Amino acid sequence: MSDRSRYDLIVAGVARPAADGAMVAVREPATGQVLAEVARAGAPDVDDALGAAAAAFDAGVWADEPATARGRVLARVAGLLREHAEDLARLEARNAGKPIGDARWEVGAAADTFEYYAGAADKFFGEVVPVADPGLDVVLREPVGPCALIVPWNFPLLIASWKVAPALVCGNPVVLKPASLTPLTALRLGELLVDAGVPAPCVSVLPGPGSVVGDALVADPRVAKVSFTGETATGAAILQTAAPNITRVSLELGGKSACVVFADADWRRAAAETPLAVFGNAGQDCCARSRILVERPVHDAFVEAFTARTRALRVDDPLDERTEVGPLISDAQRRVSLDYLELGAQEGARLVCGGRVPERAGSFLEPAVLVDVDNRMRVAQEEIFGPVACVIPFDGEEEAVRLANDVPYGLSGSIWTSDLGRAIRVSRAIRTGVLSVNSNRSVRTETPFGGFKRSGLGRELGMHALAHYTEVKNVFFCSGSRPAR
Ligand code: NAD
Repeated sequence: MSDRSRYDLIVAGVARPAADGAMVAVREPATGQVLAEVARAGAPDVDDALGAAAAAFDAGVWADEPATARGRVLARVAGLLREHAEDLARLEARNAGKPIGDARWEVGAAADTFEYYAGAADKFFGEVVPVADPGLDVVLREPVGPCALIVPWNFPLLIASWKVAPALVCGNPVVLKPASLTPLTALRLGELLVDAGVPAPCVSVLPGPGSVVGDALVADPRVAKVSFTGETATGAAILQTAAPNITRVSLELGGKSACVVFADADWRRAAAETPLAVFGNAGQDCCARSRILVERPVHDAFVEAFTARTRALRVDDPLDERTEVGPLISDAQRRVSLDYLELGAQEGARLVCGGRVPERAGSFLEPAVLVDVDNRMRVAQEEIFGPVACVIPFDGEEEAVRLANDVPYGLSGSIWTSDLGRAIRVSRAIRTGVLSVNSNRSVRTETPFGGFKRSGLGRELGMHALAHYTEVKNVFFCSGSRPAR
């Protein structure tokens, strides 16, 4: 299946070419070679997908199924993802350039996501409110309507599953818009959704340019809800496009997350574990700990250990089992990192390792560590979205919190300390949506994920995500007129 060389769109559950017959070549970042030819959706395909989704929603197809039945279908999706896990992982590794071990983890996590929401199907419900009026007041949770789910290229299948599973389990039809560079696993997911029993009109997958397909989806009044993951600037444009229709929007955007290492921490473990928290997925991770704040007494020793581990990272072919870091998604994305490295040098930062382009095909870049970084430099303020780490020294808790918060973003972060009181104080003071103490993990299926400030609006994962895919309706049943006082 991973050897398929041609992919159609999925429109209302059916594979078919784009209405205008357009095709686009999808490349393998590790080689630059064409991996597959993929149909490129346009406005008429969006119209067909939304026409089917809206008609199905109005007719109560899927939305009127018992929640338990919808949950059972999602459990079947999880089963199919596991059945096809190795094929999907290889496809993702080749299309997104990610190490095969990471791709396997992501496919497993996508299956976990469907399993989690399968179980949540009949455990997310309304309330009965004790009102003063005589009668019964109930709060209902109803599906919101057709959902446009727009995803980026860095975790194509995983982020799609974070949106598709909660949207579907609440009874909504979905139209999934993968990134143009990485549509393959999203199209496979669309097929598996239909195979598992999601009604055909409720499933469309439309690869195509964001400026055409994404924009047409967001602007369409038939779309009740947009869930978007991508750049902050794109998120801002989406909010504007959605405004005239008051379309519900949730956004998972960029980050410039801090890893704060106090001198009292097990800083050796932090130095060993943090390189993959910055350079994993070649740094193309919204949660990348791209600013590493280190308390001055351990700064130099930390930098030495951190750069030693960074130099030892195996940067290689994504399909090699030993690879820890693959190529960037494209030469253009690598250019962004190289430009930031030049900018960092001009700003006075010092490159202590990496930053070289290896002599081989593909958009590889050696993981780069910048030291002598001041938090006001652009390399410390802007999301680079590549394998570039900035190490910044600090003195004391107050400065650590000030620096951690002094960026426009607020997605994720880590605090390394052995002092429980400090862990509590600092985790309360840092303004991000997700934090871990003595760990760099940000994402768990069961817990809410999303950002403060310009990192986004709303939360994915956990039970919190379900609120975004439902409307709240209050119904009061009067049991008679109020007795006269
Ligand atoms: P991007 O904003 O360029 O594109 C994301 C998606 O939006 C793609 O499918 C694209 O085609 C589509 N799109 C582009 N313009 C659009 C428009 N005008 N209307 C509607 N859709 C449009 O982002 P990217 O380069 O694919 O992804 C990288 C960015 O994503 C980084 O900033 C990263 O931090 C962010 N990201 C955030 C999270 C998170 O959960 N917070 C997770 C992963 C990635």
